[in-house]
Amino acid sequence: MAVDRLLPTDEARDLIALTRDVADKVLAPIVDEHEKAETYPEGVFATLGEAGLLSLPYPEEWGGGGQPYEVYLQVLEEIAARWAAVAVAVSVHSLSCHPLMAFGTEEQKRRWLPEMLGGATVGAYSLSEPQAGSDAAALACKAAAIGGGYRVNGSKAWITHGGIADFYNLFARTGEGSKGISCFLVPKNTAGLSFGKPEEKMGLHAVPTTSAHYDDAFVPDERRIGTEGQGLQIAFSALDSGRLGIAAVAVGLAQSALDEAVAYAQERTAFGRKIIDHQGLGFLLADMAAAVDSARATYIDAARRRDAGLPYSRNASVAKLVATDAAMKVTTDAVQVLGGYGYTRDFRVERYMREAKITQIFEGTNQIQRLVISRHLAG
Ligand SMILES: Cc1cc2nc3c(=O)[nH]c(=O)nc-3n(C[C@H](O)[C@H](O)[C@H](O)COP(=O)(O)OP(=O)(O)OC[C@H]3O[C@@H](n4cnc5c(N)ncnc54)[C@H](O)[C@@H]3O)c2cc1C
Repeated sequence: MAVDRLLPTDEARDLIALTRDVADKVLAPIVDEHEKAETYPEGVFATLGEAGLLSLPYPEEWGGGGQPYEVYLQVLEEIAARWAAVAVAVSVHSLSCHPLMAFGTEEQKRRWLPEMLGGATVGAYSLSEPQAGSDAAALACKAAAIGGGYRVNGSKAWITHGGIADFYNLFARTGEGSKGISCFLVPKNTAGLSFGKPEEKMGLHAVPTTSAHYDDAFVPDERRIGTEGQGLQIAFSALDSGRLGIAAVAVGLAQSALDEAVAYAQERTAFGRKIIDHQGLGFLLADMAAAVDSARATYIDAARRRDAGLPYSRNASVAKLVATDAAMKVTTDAVQVLGGYGYTRDFRVERYMREAKITQIFEGTNQIQRLVISRHLAG
């Protein structure tokens, strides 16, 4: 059932209608096949780019959609309701445009931003390393300054869209400690950059996650974003926005699980009545609906703060924590509502449950979100 959204403008209503149309006609017919075969859906990104859905929250002067974050996130939720892996990749692409938009020079933006925002090039974000995930400041990949640029050596891990994306936000060490990290925009075809084979994941099968290896790769000065040592500040600033994207993806997943559970409960009978008419199950569905609605309200509230130019880091962490925990619970309960059938691959709730798990882990685990929130509380 389509979510009845309270949207701020007619343009936003049109965008949601367009997204639903693309989701129905382009995503829905192929999602099951690609998730099962673990194949990348070539062409889907180009279609989303042509529809103007890849860069909604960025300014129109740079080729973006000029939409409030509140609207972008609801579009993302609609995509996730059909195909979480694609929505995650869209969210990561948007996250990957943030460092250049927020910290790049006018010259850098003029050169690269229009093609990134227009969808001609797709982005990836590579902060994590095999030995440094939550503790990003412990990263070891090294960018040594040499004439005119940097020689990069080391490995990055867990890159969504790894090997497929055209450009990589690389966070690498140019000095000591947390202030010794810098951000670079590295094109895929850089000599000395190679990618590992796709990880064998629990879910999000259609979009690869890989490692990346830098072996004496040269990155010119002009591709450093921000000042030397500003990397961690840039990484965290991008993650505040990205976490809201993951919250929206989680809500889309949870909404689909709820819809499929309700539809099933209206059909299935036990003890002479529809199972939805057994109060024990009806109340379970009611709790699922309450969790989805409150998770959505939490991310929209954080997005409105961002749109108003207010601090929103704490709110983004609350939204990520609330929405992804809700998605895990709601998708698990949806499997319960379908009984034995829910545990089979014949019904999508099984996939939703596997996909929900990662939302509690990436872009800062939910323990790290609690750390961020408690640090705000402690002032
Ligand atoms: C499918 C997938 C896609 C990903 N995509 C990307 C991407 O595109 N770009 C990217 O840079 N990274 C990406 N990641 C990496 C992801 O962000 C990290 O896995 C995540 O940040 C956790 O890091 P870790 O796996 O090293 O776990 P660790 O940091 O080793 O944590 C292990 C456990 O310890 C807990 N823990 C750690 N520190 C604390 C603490 N201080 N207090 C309490 N508990 C703590 C964690 O919450 C976790 O439960 C992706 C990961 C996956 C699985």
